Parts: sequence; structure tokens; C-alpha cells
Amino acid sequence: MAQPEQQMEIGRVLTCTVNECSYNKNNVCHAPDINVGEMHPTCDTFTQEAVSPIAQGMPDVSVCNVTECRFNLNNDCTAPGITVAHHSEHADCLTYRTGV
Ligand code: SF4
Ligand SMILES: [Zn+2]
Repeated sequence: MAQPEQQMEIGRVLTCTVNECSYNKNNVCHAPDINVGEMHPTCDTFTQEAVSPIAQGMPDVSVCNVTECRFNLNNDCTAPGITVAHHSEHADCLTYRTGV
């Protein structure tokens, strides 16, 4: 049986180092949840517009459209927590993996 604390971290955004995003505070994402893009594992929730209020706690991946990722199951992220960081000038899910 899976550990409850592990289950709680499935698809959770554990760290994001994209500090210029309005949802980012001390390398933690405070968006209500995030969406990850289609052809490329970008964080589509990234914004520099004013957001208020910033959600407390870590969000989950709401929808992931990167269907070739090994953690993608029917557009749900099943990774045991994800990391988001810069790729060039934008934010990417670094937990993205292909293959099995
Ligand atoms: S780039 Fe995405 S994961 Fe990072 S703080 Fe912004 S909304 Fe959250
Ligand atoms: Zn990228």
C-alpha cells in the first residue's frame, strides 16, 4: 500500500526556480494549480501579471498535455513531485522524462 505522504505529493510542484513569475515566492509556486504544455513541457501558468491572492501551499499539475512523458497518465501527472526551472527564457517542467 502506498504511503499517504507519498500519495500527497503525486503531481505536486515541489520547487520552481522561475522567480520572475508572479506566482513564485522563495522558489515555491503559489498558483492554485498549473498546466503543462503540449509539444514541449512548458509551464503554461507562468505569468508576470499581478495575481492576487496567491494560493497557500504547493499546487498540483492540473493538466499535463505532454502525453509522451512517462509520468503522463490520461493528462494527469503521476510523478512523485515535479521541479520547474528555466529553459532559455521560459519555465519548463524538469521532471519530464521519455521512455520507460
Ligand atoms: S512558472 Fe509555473 S510553476 Fe513556476 S511559479 Fe510560475 S506558475 Fe508556478
Ligand atoms: Zn522549454
